[in-house]
This record gives sequence, C-alpha cells and structure tokens, in this order.
Amino acid sequence: MLRSHAEALDAADPLARKRGQFYRPEGVIYLDGNSLGMLPLAARAAVDRAVTAEWGEGLIRSWNSAGWIDKPRQLGDRIGRLIGAGHGQTIVADSTSVNLFKALIAALRLNPDRKVVVSEEGNFPSDLYIAQGVQGLMPDIELRLIPEGERDAAAYIDDRVAVVMLTHIDFKTAHMHDMAAVTEATRAAGAISLWDLAHSAGAVPVDLDGVGADLAVGCTYKYLNAGPGGPAFLYCARRHQEQAAQPLTGWLGHRRPFDFTLDYEAGNGIDRFVCGTPPILSFTALEGALTVFDDVSMADLREKSLRLTDLFIELVDTRLGDAGFSLVTPKEHSLRGSHVSLGHPQGYGMMQALIDHGVIGDFRAPDLLRFGFTPLTLSYADVWDAVDRWRRILDQELWLQEKYAKRSRVT
Ligand SMILES: *Cc1c(COP(=O)(O)O)cnc(C)c1O
Repeated sequence: MLRSHAEALDAADPLARKRGQFYRPEGVIYLDGNSLGMLPLAARAAVDRAVTAEWGEGLIRSWNSAGWIDKPRQLGDRIGRLIGAGHGQTIVADSTSVNLFKALIAALRLNPDRKVVVSEEGNFPSDLYIAQGVQGLMPDIELRLIPEGERDAAAYIDDRVAVVMLTHIDFKTAHMHDMAAVTEATRAAGAISLWDLAHSAGAVPVDLDGVGADLAVGCTYKYLNAGPGGPAFLYCARRHQEQAAQPLTGWLGHRRPFDFTLDYEAGNGIDRFVCGTPPILSFTALEGALTVFDDVSMADLREKSLRLTDLFIELVDTRLGDAGFSLVTPKEHSLRGSHVSLGHPQGYGMMQALIDHGVIGDFRAPDLLRFGFTPLTLSYADVWDAVDRWRRILDQELWLQEKYAKRSRVT
C-alpha cells in the first residue's frame, strides 16, 4: 500500500480538524493515547486561567465564585454524555482504583444475600487487587475469575453471583465485551453489573443507561486527555442511588457538609460517592480537555478508530510480515477496542527502539507491544509513517542495540 492511500483517507476525514487542538511534540508519532492522552490546548489554557484568576486572585472565594464545589457533578454530567449516562448519575472523583473500591462495596451491599464476585484473570491487576482488598474486609466474599482467553462471560454468571465486575475493553488485547449482552445476563441472574470503562470512555460508544448498567468507573487521563493522574469518574444508575452505600464516607459526600454534624448522612443521589476535597487543578484540566469532545460524534470517532486500527493491522501484515509478530487483538470489529497489541519475544527492546525513533507506544509484560489509536489526534499518514519507521528499524537491526534492553520502572 502506498502512502497516498493514507493521504486520501486523511483528505476525507471529518475529524482531521481536531488535530490542531492538541500540542504536538516535534517528530513524534504518538501511539499511546490509550495510556496518557496528548495535551489539549484548551486544557493548558484552562489550567493557566484557574491558577492565576481562580487560585491566585479568588483564593478561598473561588469554591463559590468559580464553582469549584459543583465540579464533581458538573464534569460527571459532561462525561456522562460520552458514556450514555443521563443527568445526575456520574461524578468525577478520586482515582479509578479508589472508585472501584467504593463501587464494589456499594454493589455488594445492594445484593447482601450473595457472596460471589465474577471478574476475569485478564483484568487489569488493580481491579483484581482491589477485589482482593475487599475480600480482606469481607472474608466470605468469593472471587470467581473467568480464565484468560475465555470470551463467554455469561457462562460464568449464575444465581449465586452478587456482582459482575468486568473491564469493557481488555487493557492488553483490546478485546471488547458485548456490554449489552453481559449486562442483560447479569440482570437476569439477579446480579449487579460493575463496568470498568478505562479503555472505553472517549474511545468507543458506550450506552450505560441504554444497556441498563448498574455501576461503572473509568479514567480521564487515557482517551479523555485530562493529563497525568487526572481524576476518575463513577456512574451509579439512578434507581440504586438512594440505597447505595459506599464505604469512604468523607465529609464532601455528606448531605450537608457545612453543618459539620457528628454523624454521617449520605448525600443526595450521586453526591454520596464523593469522599473528600477534589483536586481542582486536575479537574480544571479535565474541564478544558472535555471541550475538545463538544462537537464530536462518538459514531464518527468509532468509525475512524476502526479504520486506523484496520490500516495498522494491514500494514504490519504486509510490510512487517517477516518479523514474527503475533496479533493478539481481535480482527472482528465488534470485538475490538481502540488499541492493537502484537506479541514478540523481544518486544521490550523493539518498543524502546521505536520510542527512540519517535514512534511512542508501550510494552506490557511478558511480550506485548501495545499501540493506541486516538482518532482525535492521529492521521492515517501517521500510521503509515510509524510502520515505515519501524520497517527501517528492522532493516538496520537497530532494535538489537544493547541500550534498548535496559528496563525502566514504567514500561
Ligand atoms: C488504566 C486502568 C486503571 C488505572 O487505575 P488508576 O487508579 O487510575 O491507577 C484501572 N483499571 C483499568 C482497567 C485500567 O486500564
């Protein structure tokens, strides 16, 4: 395939206009927006403004005058638009791991007669570690893990199951669960669904209300581009909110925090999932980052994501076919998220060579090279150029250099 083919796709791309809304480091083809999104210019401007005007000038007054106190709910609703959640069911707070802890215990308390939590071996480790931590507090809870590679989650859900806690898109393989079918099987078995949308929010269309999901959590620093350590979100369907009891009962989740009363009383609706004071500068970065999505249709975004990943898979196949990569990401569109992972025994060194030559992806042990495809920041020509640089690295055997074998702490 010629580069002109990619250029033609770019010329017809309705999302091409979005690329200019991000800061673009010189010479870099960034294929890691699934791990840390690029910097939206609007996020930088929003943080500059908040630091100077709201913090510097407004000081404590800004909790009211700049609306800081309303941001957990306000930004939650804006993320809600991207994940099919109607008003008042999503808040921004804490990290994804912390929100998993809150949501998992709340889910277990909604289903007190049952003790089994279904999850999967291939889940992101933090999700499983949090479940193990919950087991430490509630020792009769049983963790039932779907084996790696098994795709039929519904087969593991029966009437002993309290909660089904799955990650919609697998962080390694990009395999995507059928959220509607699994949620329906969960509901039919009398269990509560808890979805992790870390690799879904801002990457693929999600319809939490439409599928009848119960609870969900997710990150903002991946496809939503809110910056390193950006705050996470939590969704709780309205029908559960008045019964939901999360364990981190901090003062800002209280019904009347400024009454400073002796006893905890859960806040109205989704507010009760807030714990303590929100990190406002990170919230401000998220607020700016979300403006980039204001005029984006998730259908357009999904279409481009599939075309980008299709193009990459095809180019790897046709141009790098001799290098011995194994594709672990599903080729079927309905099963694929927005990243592509390739297995290779020397994957780590190869990724370091790519990064050194400006093609930034990441490595996931034991042997996966992982590449994220963010439709708002990438062109089709970027994909073509990335594979072209990789071809040169292979031809010149650059990746065998010793310096690329040294492991960093973050891979
Ligand atoms: C990235 C990711 C997380 C990260 O959790 P943090 O608390 O933000 O570190 C959690 N779960 C999944 C599935 C992820 O992909």
